[in-house]
Amino acid sequence: MKFKIILLILPVFFIAGTVFSQESQKPKLILQITVDQLRGDLPEKFMKNMGNDGFRYLKEQGVWYANAHYGHANTETVVGHTVLATGADPSVNGMISNVWFDREKGRLVYNIEDARYPILTENADVDASTEIDQSQVIAGTDGRSPANIITTTFSDELMLMTNGKAKVFGVSVKDRGAVTMAGHTGKAFWFSKPKGEFITSSYYYNEYPEWVKQWNKLRFPETFSNKAWNLMHDKSTYLFGNDDDQEWEMDMAGFGRTFPHQYGPADSAYYGSYLTFSPAGDDITLNFAKALIEAEAIGKDDITDYLSISFSSTDYVGHLFGPSSLEAEDNMLRLDSTLADLFAFIDKKVGLENTLIILSADHGGPDVPGYLESFGIESGYVSPDKWDKEPSIQALKQKFGIGQELIHDFFPPYLYLNEEIIKAKGLELEEVEKAVAKELMSIKGVALAVSSFALQKNQLPDTYLNRKALRNFNRKRSGNLLILFEPQYFINDFNGEIVAVNHGGPWMYDSYVPVVFAGMDIKGLKVTRKVEPKDIVSTLTNIIGTKPPSGADGEVLNEVTSQLNSK
Ligand SMILES: [Zn+2]
Repeated sequence: MKFKIILLILPVFFIAGTVFSQESQKPKLILQITVDQLRGDLPEKFMKNMGNDGFRYLKEQGVWYANAHYGHANTETVVGHTVLATGADPSVNGMISNVWFDREKGRLVYNIEDARYPILTENADVDASTEIDQSQVIAGTDGRSPANIITTTFSDELMLMTNGKAKVFGVSVKDRGAVTMAGHTGKAFWFSKPKGEFITSSYYYNEYPEWVKQWNKLRFPETFSNKAWNLMHDKSTYLFGNDDDQEWEMDMAGFGRTFPHQYGPADSAYYGSYLTFSPAGDDITLNFAKALIEAEAIGKDDITDYLSISFSSTDYVGHLFGPSSLEAEDNMLRLDSTLADLFAFIDKKVGLENTLIILSADHGGPDVPGYLESFGIESGYVSPDKWDKEPSIQALKQKFGIGQELIHDFFPPYLYLNEEIIKAKGLELEEVEKAVAKELMSIKGVALAVSSFALQKNQLPDTYLNRKALRNFNRKRSGNLLILFEPQYFINDFNGEIVAVNHGGPWMYDSYVPVVFAGMDIKGLKVTRKVEPKDIVSTLTNIIGTKPPSGADGEVLNEVTSQLNSK
C-alpha cells in the first residue's frame, strides 16, 4: 500500500519540480554576437594560437552546437541576420536576398532601403565610387529602416513583453547587420565608410543621442591613420605562415595581398574601406559598442536588455583573401582577442553571470577556387551576366520571336526575365520560365534552375536543393527563376567588382555556422546533433518568456534551457 502511494506522489512531485519550480533566472542582458561569414570549423581550426578568454571561453564554458546549418538556399548577410533575428525562414520573414527586383518600382532594391527615413548625417551615404559592397550601391536612397522585414524579431517581442522598458540595440559596420537585429522596435547604428562615423536613420532618432555625437567627435577610427595591419604573432607560428602571397587573393583598391596592409592617411578615398577589410573594423565596432553600453546603462536593472553586435571584418577578409589565407588566420586571432576584450568589459559592467551570450554567424563561406585547385579539387566561376548571349538562350529567344534582352537581371540567387516583352509577345510567362530553366541547367556550374511557378505550385520533388529553394521562396519578392550553382562554383564578378570568392550557396561550407550559448550559469557542453540558427530565437523566447516572433518556427535547444530553466 505504502509503495502505491509513493508511486502516486512521485509523478506529481516530478511535474511540480520541473514545470512549476521557482522563477527561472532571467539575464540582465542578452548579448547576441554575429560574426559575418564565420564558417563553423574556423574557430577550432585556429584555436591553437588563441587566448583563453575569447573563443576558448565559449568552447569550454558554453553550449557549443557543432553541427548547425541554415536551411535556406541563399546564404547571404541580410538573409542570415534576419533568420537570426526573427527565427523564421526567408520565405516567411521576406528577406530573401541582399538585393531583389521590385516590380512596382521597376528596379533592383537594396534589402533595408527606405526613402522615408534618411540617414541623419549629411554625406554619410554609400559612396558609389569607392564602395566595394555592390549590394549597397544598388540602394536607390540613403534611407534605411527594418520595414521590409515582414515578421517580428525576438528583440521586438522583448520590447513588447516589457512594454517598451527593455533597451534594444543593434550595432555593426554593415547597416543590414545592425538594422535586422535591432528589429522594428530597437535602435540601430552602423558605420559610414565615407564619414568614419557611426550613423543611424530618422526611423530611429530625430537627432543623435549626445553620447553618439561625442563618440564621433573623438574620431577613434582615425587612430589607424598611417598605420598598418600587421601580424599579431611571429609568422612561423601560423598555419598559413608560408602562404601570404597567394595569386588568387585580391589586391582590393590597393590594400595589397601581403602583410603589412597599409591603412594610409585617414583622408584618402579608400581609408574607410581599408578599415573594414581588416580587424580594425571590428575594433571600431567594439569601441562604439562599449560607449553604448556605458551611456545607455545596458544591463543595469532587472529588465532584460538586448544588444546585438555584428562583426563584419571576417566577411570582407574572406571575400578578398579567402578563409584559407594568412589574412584570415590573423583576423581570426584578432577577432578572438576582440571577443575576449568584449567579454571582460561585459563582466565588469554587467557581470557574465547576468549575461546570456549567443554567438553565431549569418553564413559560412567557401574556399577560393585557386586554393581548392591547388589541392586538385575542381572549382570555378560562373558568369550569369553573359547568359543572355549564350547560344542556347539565343536559340530560345529566336523561337519566341524575342529580339531584345530576355534575361533582364540577375542578382543571386534570382534571375529576372523581361516580363514586358514576354507580355507584349503574348507568351505565357510560365512557359518561358520553364524553357529558360531547362536551357540554363545545361550551363557549366549550374546545379539547379527552377521557375517560380514550379516553386509556387510546389511541383518539385523533395530533394536537398528544392527544400532549400522553397525555404527561400517568397512569392512577392523572389525572381522568375532561382539559380543554384554546383558545389565549389561561384560568381565573383559583381558589375566589374571582382572578389576572390563569394558565399551564398546551399552547400555545407556556406550553411555551416557555430551556434554557441554562454554566460550566466551555463556549463560547457559540445552538442553534435543537427540544429539550425533559427532555433536560437525559439530558445530565447523560451528562456525569457516572450511570445514567439510572428514567423518563428525553430526548435527549443534543450541543452541550454535545461540548464537555465531549472534554476
Ligand atoms: Zn559576404
